[in-house]
Amino acid sequence: MPALRAVWQAHLEQHDPEDCVRFGTPAPDHHHGRLLGSTVPELVEPFVRGLLVDPPGPTDIVPFTRLDGEAAGELLDVLSPSDLDGRQNDAPTLRAILEATATRPDRLDVHGYAVGPGRCDERVTAEGVHVRFDDDVRLPRRHDDGCDCERLWSYVVDELGLDDDGARRPDEIVPVYRADDERWWRLWWD
Ligand SMILES: [Zn+2]
Ligand SMILES: [Zn+2]
Repeated sequence: MPALRAVWQAHLEQHDPEDCVRFGTPAPDHHHGRLLGSTVPELVEPFVRGLLVDPPGPTDIVPFTRLDGEAAGELLDVLSPSDLDGRQNDAPTLRAILEATATRPDRLDVHGYAVGPGRCDERVTAEGVHVRFDDDVRLPRRHDDGCDCERLWSYVVDELGLDDDGARRPDEIVPVYRADDERWWRLWWD
């Protein structure tokens, strides 16, 4: 059994329904363990670091990074419409992020976290994307006057097809370097 499924299965077994009342339920009809009824654990697990070394507790989020186009395409098939409509504050919707990544895996991947069945708000959340962008741009971590974020954001929306409906530009943009000094940018929404 893959590790994340086993970890979450244990959390589900430890879950006390009284906690739903004690901590306040986000949705009265929520059902713990719903992600275990899908392939979400298997799709997310390859992008989770240190799962066996430092396994998450029942209320911990499970961060993932560099979730690729293939996994994004499969998540689009297994998550519910309401899951896909979800978004982190002013970020694009999960659907928009997964669709763009599935279409342009050469230029995009996803970072975010999953919440397991130990919590009432069990879900998958995208906090942002990594983007490969070749232009030479000046991008401080947080915006300042004259930073080139609009150029990068236009590239992501217009060229890579990320649906920005209702989304703001990213709160934070930092460079990340991969093999052969290949520069990507990490876009993150607060
Ligand atoms: Zn609950
Ligand atoms: Zn800016």
